[in-house]
Amino acid sequence: MFDAKHIAAQFPALQQQVNGQRLVYLDSAATTQKPQCVIDALSHYYQQQNANVHRGSHSLTAHATSEFERARETVTEFIGAQSSKEIIWTRGATEALNLIAQTYARNLLRPGDEILVGEMEHHANVVPWQIVAEQTGAKVVKIPMTQECQFDLASFNRLLTDKCKIVALAHITNVTGTRQPVEEVIASAHKLGAVVVVDGAQGIVHEPVDVTQLNADFYVFSGHKLYAPAGVGVLYGKQALLEAMPPWHGGGKMVEKVSFAGTTFGELPGKFEAGTPNVAGAIALMKAIQWYQGLDQHALATHIHQLVEKTKTALEQLDDVRILGYQPNASVISFVIDGVHHQDVATLLDQQGIAVRAGNHCAHPLMDALGVTGTIRASFAAYNTIEDVESLVAAVEKAVDML
Ligand code: PMP
Repeated sequence: MFDAKHIAAQFPALQQQVNGQRLVYLDSAATTQKPQCVIDALSHYYQQQNANVHRGSHSLTAHATSEFERARETVTEFIGAQSSKEIIWTRGATEALNLIAQTYARNLLRPGDEILVGEMEHHANVVPWQIVAEQTGAKVVKIPMTQECQFDLASFNRLLTDKCKIVALAHITNVTGTRQPVEEVIASAHKLGAVVVVDGAQGIVHEPVDVTQLNADFYVFSGHKLYAPAGVGVLYGKQALLEAMPPWHGGGKMVEKVSFAGTTFGELPGKFEAGTPNVAGAIALMKAIQWYQGLDQHALATHIHQLVEKTKTALEQLDDVRILGYQPNASVISFVIDGVHHQDVATLLDQQGIAVRAGNHCAHPLMDALGVTGTIRASFAAYNTIEDVESLVAAVEKAVDML
């Protein structure tokens, strides 16, 4: 049995009341709350360790540098990368995707080349490709989804030709929680020499990830959806690809030698880390990973899937509630109430202490395909309980009656 109440007790933000009610936090796909140990790691860093890294020679900077690099090693092991040189710190998944687009892709793409992008993708995995397509004369081609909100593998295989240089898709999508067939996509794309960029913003926290086994060329994620603070994220790239890529941002730490006659760039991973990094964020991400790895992963996944299934079964009983693209074994559920604006529903839920996300979830193409302007999304994490599901369902029922 997974003890979600014991977990929830470790999260100070969950102990508060919102609008006079117990906070029921069902917006973890947007960002997770943080356990006390992660908050402590952040404050400990600023109280005791704060220093810039890879510069200077005093004890504090040496210690901060070693913790910062230990955090990189922790991420390396966590995602099964072969070397810590393959782990680049970024501000998050969005920055990592833009980095790949503006270095790897911009250097590679020629007019007429194609970038295949899934229809259910988050804007962070669409817009950077559109920008680089505009810059290079390449073309972004949509990989359609099926009516059941699944990745359409048959269409993908038809669209995949030797014009395709990059395939971009989420490991798990953020609106319906669809697990996309990344293994099959990677195998097919590699046969034609295309690289695959996997957006792991949701995937990283919903199943164990081994990038080497997956054979992903790039895998990106944000710390803040993994119980760590915002402002730190990871770009994993195969070492050979990263070595061959030009740098993105110029500045301190990413150089070997600067002179006005010209500059030579440093080695990985520093080559992509110009300027002072988010040292505290990286160290707190290390703590979050250690905390997360301490959970029984199988029991956690089963617990979350059960909560989502119970939510689905209960919501289905309510008049006018329509669940969109339900996926078994997901950690999110999206629904609409026919005739009522999603924002009005979310406001009513908020008045009852329930935090959900309402809107287009940065997925306009998916909203268009579903024929809606937005949905209400409840998303679940390790700290959610069956009581949270009951509160949500009761509140939705009340909202249906009122509206
Ligand atoms: N991709 C997916 C699937 C996401 O859910 C998100 C966050 N909503 C992102 C990318 C972007 O992540 P961030 O805003 O942390 O960079």
